[in-house]
Amino acid sequence: MLIDIMRNRLIGALMTLALLFGGPTHAGWHKQHADVMGTRVTVELYHADEAQARQAILAVLDEMHRIDAEMSPYIESSQLSRLNRDASRRAVPVSNELFSLLRRSVRFSEMTDGAFDITFASVGYLYDYRQSRRPDAGQIKAFVDLINYHNLVLDDRTRTIRFGKKGVRIDLGGIAKGHAVDNCIAILQRHGIENALVTAGGDSRLIGDRWGRPWTIGIRDPRSASEVIALLPLVDVAVSTSGDYERYFEEGGVRYHHIIDPESGDSARELQSATIIGPDATTTDALSTSVFVLGLARGMALVNRLPGIDAILVDSTGNMHYSNGLESARNPDSRVNPSTDPVAP
Ligand code: ADP
Ligand code: MG
Repeated sequence: MLIDIMRNRLIGALMTLALLFGGPTHAGWHKQHADVMGTRVTVELYHADEAQARQAILAVLDEMHRIDAEMSPYIESSQLSRLNRDASRRAVPVSNELFSLLRRSVRFSEMTDGAFDITFASVGYLYDYRQSRRPDAGQIKAFVDLINYHNLVLDDRTRTIRFGKKGVRIDLGGIAKGHAVDNCIAILQRHGIENALVTAGGDSRLIGDRWGRPWTIGIRDPRSASEVIALLPLVDVAVSTSGDYERYFEEGGVRYHHIIDPESGDSARELQSATIIGPDATTTDALSTSVFVLGLARGMALVNRLPGIDAILVDSTGNMHYSNGLESARNPDSRVNPSTDPVAP
């Protein structure tokens, strides 16, 4: 099924798959894939000068590696690993960049009623999706109270982080890729590039257009990797999708996947995927994870309250749901709710 969306930054008109995958190579356009941050990264950009285009792409990949080295829970020397080792015992100083991202993470927790919570990792680390391993009910009960962003003590003056309880762990898997994508777009802009797409896994941000037309982002069918359920023609926005198909295993007909409801310590199961469109990838990344946890009613209510944010949600039966902004684009007669809430942090 294709959808047709028309709304300020979203430029209407159906796009065909041929446009996504076919077409001649255009001079000045450069595209590169790489595997960084445990995911597939794609950079596509226009630069008339070949050497400068290469340089810009290398700068983007360097930035991805730099952020991975600082924020990965799997790299022992990362600042994040140091926090998980030491912050239960003492206040640990971190870089300005990490401090700001942690501060932003807490703001998303506040904005989403705790659906977004980087302390999910206090239980989350007990899951191993590759090995089909999960915590048992007793372990979840013992650790679930550690999931609470109030257990994070951020000191702005000393730029230190302390965990309020022993056993608290954090993980930035729900926001770090978006942050990386935003930094990379800023780097490209500093290289004078005006048309580009940067994607890291489910998080993308695009500037300008592509060959004089909107960029087209496909939303995949959550139950079929080779099928696309919507094509979004987009200009100057970020878009993130969180789904229950990225990392999961099944046991007794139940799907255990990598998005954890902080209240239960178990995977969130109301949706199959949540796609968020917004101004920057840090916001769309955090909100796609949040809305996935909140589910259809609460998630859509949040999106419709936030100015500049839209969503396409796929429910547990595979039906698609659109936020008011997109619905009104599809049906110009429907009313858009006026927004009263502040903009995303
Ligand atoms: P992906 O990493 O596949 O792009 P998401 O952006 O939805 O998907 O992020 C999922 C990741 O977010 C998980 O792998 C985990 O690291 C982290 N996460 C899981 N549950 C939560 C939560 N409730 N709040 C914040 N982060 C979460
Ligand atoms: Mg996310």
